[in-house]
Amino acid sequence: MSLKVLLVEDDRELRQTLNEALKLEGYEVITSASAADATAVIRHAMGSHHPLDLLILDLGLPDGDGSDLLRSVRAQFNMPILIISARHDDENKVSLLDDGADDYLVKPFHLGELLARMRVALRHRGTSVTTAQKQYAYGSLRVDLNKHAVTQAGAPIHLTPTEFKLLARLVRQAGQVVTHRQLLLDVWGPEFIEHTHYLRLYMAQLRAKLEDNPTEPLMLLTEPGVGYRLAE
Ligand code: CA
Repeated sequence: MSLKVLLVEDDRELRQTLNEALKLEGYEVITSASAADATAVIRHAMGSHHPLDLLILDLGLPDGDGSDLLRSVRAQFNMPILIISARHDDENKVSLLDDGADDYLVKPFHLGELLARMRVALRHRGTSVTTAQKQYAYGSLRVDLNKHAVTQAGAPIHLTPTEFKLLARLVRQAGQVVTHRQLLLDVWGPEFIEHTHYLRLYMAQLRAKLEDNPTEPLMLLTEPGVGYRLAE
């Protein structure tokens, strides 16, 4: 099961960028843009069968200060908490760490830095971070998510951004079935969950580009009534 992260950030652009990037890394991401919403999400998630594994928290929120949320969460739960903030005075950092934050990143930060700090914080809690699969091979087809490259017998295959996102989502869980809902959510977004025809259309396009015989796929497999699975 992927690790579940709550990202609390009111800056829409940063929230979306981080959401996409964390999903690409294989995390399950929930986002929240206010302290009140985050509090409700945390209460709900921590009582569910898959509680939060990590919290990323902005300090300047429209309805309160992230540091108050930090203290109230820390008083109840043991998950790692990473602060992301534009404030950078040392005194403030020390008090946040004293209040139970695991780490602190000053904006703007590099994504790689955030991912590394997340892994460290999770390791300290004894949570094993199984990084999602980044490479895939089937016959003479090669997919390298880091290089954003798809090749057939060494020759590059051009995929549209959506085709690539769909393929990447399957690569990260190669060999496992990924549900229609999960694919629509991760590739298109929550407002497209009912649009299964998008999925059928793009899967047909991918098969046309990647399968020897698109009507009898060997790699991009249909799990009837459930979703799709990338053959291993
Ligand atoms: Ca903010």
